[in-house]
Amino acid sequence: AYQERLVLTRELRDAVAAKELTLFYQPVINLQSGRIDGVEALLRWEHSEFGRIPPDQWIPLAEEVGIIHQVTRWVLDRVCRDASGLRARYGDHIAISVNISAKDLAHPLFHEQARAILRRHHLLPRNIILEITETAMMTDPELAQHTIEILSDMGFRIALDDFGSGHSSLGTPALFRLDELKIDRSFLHNVLDYPARQKILKAALELGTALDLDVVVEGVEEEAIAVWLQQFPGLQGQGYYWGQPARASLESTGAPLPSHASDH
Ligand code: C2E
Ligand code: CA
Ligand code: CA
Repeated sequence: AYQERLVLTRELRDAVAAKELTLFYQPVINLQSGRIDGVEALLRWEHSEFGRIPPDQWIPLAEEVGIIHQVTRWVLDRVCRDASGLRARYGDHIAISVNISAKDLAHPLFHEQARAILRRHHLLPRNIILEITETAMMTDPELAQHTIEILSDMGFRIALDDFGSGHSSLGTPALFRLDELKIDRSFLHNVLDYPARQKILKAALELGTALDLDVVVEGVEEEAIAVWLQQFPGLQGQGYYWGQPARASLESTGAPLPSHASDH
C-alpha cells in the first residue's frame, strides 16, 4: 500500500502540472423561483490510464501528503477563469462555491493566496462561497474560527458543508462566522416516507434560518422531494434532479434547465 501511495502521490503532482484536473459545476437552485442562484465547483481527475478518479478517492491523500494547497490554488484559479463563461450561461448574479480543506484553513498564507488569485482575475470575494465541512472546521476549531474570520472580513462567503453528517453537533453553526448552511444529503434519505425524518429535516432548516443563514439542501434526486421542499421559503437545493455536475462550457451541458421546479 505504501508503494501504491507513493505512485499515486507522484502521479497527482504530475496531474496538476499536466492539466489532468478539470472542474465540473453543479447548479444550486432556488426552490421556489426555480432560478439558479449559484454553482458548486467539483474537481475531477482524468487519469490517462485509469480514467476518472472520484475526488473522495484521492483528496484525502492530497491532504495527507501536502499537495492539497496546490490543488486548491489551482481550483480557485480555474474557477476565476471559468467565471465569465458561467455568468454568461447562468446569469451575473450567481455565486460560485469552492470546496476547501481543513489543511487550507491551517495554512498561514491561504487567505493571502486566495485574495491574490481573485485579484489577478479581477474577481470580488463576494462572488465566491468557500465550502468547509463541519469535520474540517472542528479539526482545530480555534484555528478555523480565526481563518474563517479573516476570509469573511475579506469578503468571501463561508458555507458549512455536509452539516448533519457524521459526528456533528447542533452547536457547530453558531461557533463560526457563516453565511450558508449546506444540509447533508443523508437528511433526504426516504424523507417522504417517514414523518419523523421530515421533522428532523425541518428542525435543521429552522436552525439555519434562526441563525440567519442561507440554507441549501444537498442530494435532491427526485421531483417529489423537490416539490415537497418548495414549502420552505428561501430554501435552495442541489442534486441530480436538476443536473449532474457538468463542464463549464455550453457545448457539453447535459443538464436540463430547472424550469420545471417552478411549474407547481
Ligand atoms: P461535496 O462537497 O459534498 O460535494 C457534493 C457531492 O455530491 C459531489 O460529489 C456531487 O457530485 C454529489 N452529488 C450531487 N448531487 C447529488 C445527488 O443528487 N445525489 C448524490 N448521491 N450525490 C450528489 P463529488 O463531485 O464526487 O465530490 C465528492 C466530494 O469530494 C465533495 O463532496 C467534496 O467534499 C470533495 N471535493 C470535490 N471537489 C473538491 C475540491 O475542489 N476541493 C476539495 N478540497 N474537495 C473537493
Ligand atoms: Ca461541497
Ligand atoms: Ca456537501
